[in-house]
Amino acid sequence: MVDRIVKSEQEWKKILSAEQFEVLRLKGTEKPFSGEYVDNKKDGIYLCAGCSNPLFSSDDKFDSGSGWPSFTRAVSKDSVEKREDLSFGMVRVEVVCARCGGHLGHVFTDGPKPGGLRYCINSLSLSFTENE
Ligand code: FE
Repeated sequence: MVDRIVKSEQEWKKILSAEQFEVLRLKGTEKPFSGEYVDNKKDGIYLCAGCSNPLFSSDDKFDSGSGWPSFTRAVSKDSVEKREDLSFGMVRVEVVCARCGGHLGHVFTDGPKPGGLRYCINSLSLSFTENE
């Protein structure tokens, strides 16, 4: 279990950039190939940009060609939660931070074997800590 973080809209606006707020709190999507971590090849851990919850490892990052940072799995079972998303006339599975509920992106079933999952994540939802 993780300790959940609950903040008001005003509190989130104080600690997030306008672009981060749009994605994390309003479920926005950054333009493909626009995010700072799409081509990041460094070894490290990706954290939630809202609450610093560890979310993904560079070990599980792959080049999907989608234009968004892509991972085969979350770094731990306490990292993310999945929710059905029926917006925009599509059936998708939304991925949110398990600690703060921030919108991260979606998970699809067209990922590489053996797991077959592709976590399609907005760079704006992430911060990155490089391994020493
Ligand atoms: Fe978070």
